[in-house]
Amino acid sequence: MERFDVIVIGAGLAGLLTAAMLGRLGRRVVVLERESAPGGRLRSFEHDGFVVDAGAYLWPNAWLDEALVRAGATSFRGSTIPNDQVMRVFVQGGGGRRLSFPWPGRRASASALETAAAALRIDAKTYADLVLLWERLAALEEEDVEALRHVPAVEALARLRVPPEVAEAFLRNVMMFGTYAPASASMAECIRLHRRTPGERRGRPECAGANAEGGVRAIVSSLREAAEAAGVEIRLGSRVEQILLAAGRARGVAVRDARATPVRIEADAVVANVPIWELLSIASADVFPPALAESARSWRAVGGVVAAAFAFDGLPRLRETGEPDRFLGWTRLLTGPDASFGGGFLWSSHHSPRNAPEGKHVLQAMRLTAHEETADPRRALEILASFTAMLDEIFLDARHRRLWQRSWVTHDGTEYLVGAGPRPPVRIPGVDGLYLVGETTDVPAIQMDAAALSALQCAETISRGVA
Ligand SMILES: Cc1cc2nc3c(=O)[nH]c(=O)nc-3n(C[C@H](O)[C@H](O)[C@H](O)COP(=O)(O)OP(=O)(O)OC[C@H]3O[C@@H](n4cnc5c(N)ncnc54)[C@H](O)[C@@H]3O)c2cc1C
Repeated sequence: MERFDVIVIGAGLAGLLTAAMLGRLGRRVVVLERESAPGGRLRSFEHDGFVVDAGAYLWPNAWLDEALVRAGATSFRGSTIPNDQVMRVFVQGGGGRRLSFPWPGRRASASALETAAAALRIDAKTYADLVLLWERLAALEEEDVEALRHVPAVEALARLRVPPEVAEAFLRNVMMFGTYAPASASMAECIRLHRRTPGERRGRPECAGANAEGGVRAIVSSLREAAEAAGVEIRLGSRVEQILLAAGRARGVAVRDARATPVRIEADAVVANVPIWELLSIASADVFPPALAESARSWRAVGGVVAAAFAFDGLPRLRETGEPDRFLGWTRLLTGPDASFGGGFLWSSHHSPRNAPEGKHVLQAMRLTAHEETADPRRALEILASFTAMLDEIFLDARHRRLWQRSWVTHDGTEYLVGAGPRPPVRIPGVDGLYLVGETTDVPAIQMDAAALSALQCAETISRGVA
């Protein structure tokens, strides 16, 4: 039987980072990935000379840079987004105008009050109370914030006796970060959103930069190169069917290789870069503490994404100013009579010039949705139609300049929505040699940053513990 020091299940961001870090520390590492390409939810595809990122575009970077350096992935060049270019808001029916983003806790100004009225749907008095609430939350000690990690926002607001109209405004404010379910967001992560307010340097906003190949796939290529240079073996088309456990210890995995042949591989440590909602398909529930197994079951309901890419032969002009749109970050879309969350869009060709041929541009639109919606093709078409309608409302010549449009639906969600449900820790209690890394592990970070932080913690723990 084959034997390695470490088996990593999954070549997603966290799996590749962990593998490369451990490879550089001299461990014999194999990565087993079921798909034919590495990268997991960092997906990009090419169409007509354009590169389309079908997953992440823009990330809070408190840990990723450090993790990439430790992994030896130095060829990737990210770009920082200036703080005033990270988010703005578009409210449907507003004549194409874009509003400043209501960053939590920002004091009243003409533009903040305008956004408060149009997007948060509150008056100046409630806005002032909302600012005070954010300030009160931000003043909490770190350990008090940490204690709120698994407390849903709606429950925390009730405990704090926040008046209903301020609580409602708070949830609308959180919604604009990208969730359709703000009530169940982790209150601790909401507070950390406040701490990421422009002007403070916590979680530098970053996007894919001017790399030789376009888009976020440049991170994956750089990591793959670094992992292989460190002696890591990456086996694609290898689906792990079971984590093998004996006497309270992870011993290896049962896997179907690229020819669908069942194989067993042994190792001192098994690292699963498997999202929490897939964990129980490769490990029996009784491996985990009951609350964790229950949580893994409930996360299966995590939503998906309806997304589209629109290619243009040049930048369309904004109705508001007549100028081409050069905004770097997300434009959040608020739709319908109650201005509810309608997703957002951004120009990924502003981030990564290689995403579009010279002089051309690609705009990506995305809406997080519950499973009921992603499973209903009519609903997905409605969402796509709403993107097109908004482009017409925002731009003077979007139709005229458009070259093509492609759309897709994914069912594997994202935790942009900072959900409060319990998550597995990096080291599973009661089972030696079993580790979890990725966006859905219990670390004080979200999204790609959570993947990076969990990888750093896992590599550090294994390097101290595994002979
Ligand atoms: C539409 C979308 C938009 C997003 N936008 C952003 C954004 O703007 N900013 C941001 O920071 N983050 C964003 N994210 C989240 C980001 O993509 C993830 O945080 C990041 O990719 C890290 O993922 P991960 O390490 O948890 O692994 P994953 O990407 O989940 O990878 C897990 C890997 O394990 C493999 N695998 C699973 N089971 C098995 C098995 N049994 N055997 C072998 N292999 C297996 C999978 O095939 C996959 O390759 C977005 C995600 C989505 C879906």
